[in-house]
Amino acid sequence: MTITIKQLQKGLADKQFSSVEITQDYLNKINQKNIDLNCFISVTGELALKQAASADAVIASGKGSVLTGIPMAHKDIFCTDGVKTSCGSKMLDNFIAPYDATVIEKFNRSGTVMLGKTNLDEFAMGSSNENSFYGSVGNPWDTSRVPGGSSGGSAAAVAARLAPGATGTDTGGSIRQPAALCGITGIKPTYGRVSRYGIVAFGSSLEQAGPFAHTAEDCALLLQSMSGFDPRDSTSVDQAVPNFSVDLNKDIAGLKIGLPKEFFADGLDSDVATVIETAISEFHKLGAEIVDISLPNMGLSIPVYYVVAPAECSSNLSRMDGVRFGHQCENPIDLEDLYKRSRSEGFGEEVKRRIMIGTYALSAGYYDAYYLKAQRLRRLIKQDYVKAFEQVDVILCPTTPEVAFKRGEKTDDPINMYLQDIYTLSLNLAGLPGMSIPAGFSQSMPVGLQLIGNYFEESRILNTAHKFQQVTDWHLKAPEVK
Ligand code: GLN
Repeated sequence: MTITIKQLQKGLADKQFSSVEITQDYLNKINQKNIDLNCFISVTGELALKQAASADAVIASGKGSVLTGIPMAHKDIFCTDGVKTSCGSKMLDNFIAPYDATVIEKFNRSGTVMLGKTNLDEFAMGSSNENSFYGSVGNPWDTSRVPGGSSGGSAAAVAARLAPGATGTDTGGSIRQPAALCGITGIKPTYGRVSRYGIVAFGSSLEQAGPFAHTAEDCALLLQSMSGFDPRDSTSVDQAVPNFSVDLNKDIAGLKIGLPKEFFADGLDSDVATVIETAISEFHKLGAEIVDISLPNMGLSIPVYYVVAPAECSSNLSRMDGVRFGHQCENPIDLEDLYKRSRSEGFGEEVKRRIMIGTYALSAGYYDAYYLKAQRLRRLIKQDYVKAFEQVDVILCPTTPEVAFKRGEKTDDPINMYLQDIYTLSLNLAGLPGMSIPAGFSQSMPVGLQLIGNYFEESRILNTAHKFQQVTDWHLKAPEVK
């Protein structure tokens, strides 16, 4: 059964149950099911019950806000004061953050309850959650398959009903892709909408934090709490945050939805395509105008991303040197040995691969040929979107080319793994908002549909998604988790 945040909120307000009761209920479920799914790295039961008790007191005093007392899970990449923040890496297995990320601070202020920290691909690099030091995560719909990545733990936790909402980060698709593969709703906001302060950095110019939940309506509530200018993050944008819930019910008759032909071409699984086509006819019935568009430079997005993201990661991860941060090797003979062995032991294979690619692309002899070239091509990708949004209000496409694949199937084939993000990562290169919503099933596995909005138009895609969710029930389907 699906219980939404909206329903929990009503139950708390009507005193049908307390926050302590629902928190305990989620903790019990986590206790039963996490062994199989492995979606939590840390479960913070004691803290959760304490937060829930204070939320109950706030609600009783009549001072609660919409999220007071709502349990949540947070991706283990957000710094949480006094709680381990591992980033799925041996490197940070010993790292207890001394402060809260802005997003966490904001949720604390809203009165949410933290159930625990969720599993992820090491430093958010991956599309299957198989790159974690803490082991891979099972997809609740079929545990022999991956939940997607890198925020696979958060997506699996929400899909398995172990939390009604969760946070993720999306550098190239890590909210939308796992949301699609797990059959839930997730949104990546416009670059700059949500503060990156206290989120362990991977690709600084690409990543944004965002929420997972069952419905667009719940995502609107969570995103509201996360958004806003933060003077501590120089990439945060000082722009008013609209009320994301207000426009949810707006009529979408006449809305122009663009279908980019490049995202419906070779490489898209035919059953996934059929599901998306059926969904498009729903939008048509809702009065939207469907327009064919072209984003001619999309073929560049994977090569561009896999130069820019590794370049930024090689720089960001240089602080993990066993001195300032992270795992330290035993008995180093000198400083060089300390650096070398600490980093060789602390990082996993994919992270090392990216550090090497990034260091190479940034090195003096190759900077112009790779990094600068990639930045130029990045501009072309962005311009494609800018032109498209002169024609349409929203862009629609599949979130992923296929449904969740088997665990182990692509681990030896990084290029094939990188192709999983073919429809998601151009948005990060352009800085645009996008979301994934459940649109149907193929091979008994969920299929996600992606809605892309213009800059700072999260309200519009949330509205479009909400209208779809009012006439369909894919988002309410729950897996049978044993
Ligand atoms: N799968 C992509 C990568 O491995 C995106 C990851 C992400 O969004 N954090 O880089």
